[in-house]
Amino acid sequence: MTATATTQRPLPVPDTLSTPFWAAARDHALHMQRCDSCGHMAYPPEIACRACGGDHLHFAPVSGRATLHSWTVLHEAPAPGFRDRLPLILAVVELEEQPGLLMSTNLVDADPAALRIGMPLRAWFENITDQCALVQFRPAGR
Ligand SMILES: [Zn+2]
Repeated sequence: MTATATTQRPLPVPDTLSTPFWAAARDHALHMQRCDSCGHMAYPPEIACRACGGDHLHFAPVSGRATLHSWTVLHEAPAPGFRDRLPLILAVVELEEQPGLLMSTNLVDADPAALRIGMPLRAWFENITDQCALVQFRPAGR
């Protein structure tokens, strides 16, 4: 992660494994790494499949539907660029495509007092720069 003067928020620095994920996010699509041999999905991306050991892994689109697995609420900004986003909800969500496929993210447009484990969520993309969009989640139906 690096911060920019324009956003003051940390930005992802894609590496060899994660570049397809971030390219899809820039287009407001959520893609997960999937094993060609067994179909197991991984996040964050891996060099080899944890289910079968296969090394033919490609990114494929997923629905963007998830449920809330866990969360915490920050009432103090972790960096200057988050001061206007408080309270900041840090969450772990489980994507519907695979039990245990968890993703760390932020929840937006959500009342911290109304959060419940298992509540339905939808992916939402925020353009941070011209070249970068972050995948976040919001309550389904919003
Ligand atoms: Zn596999």
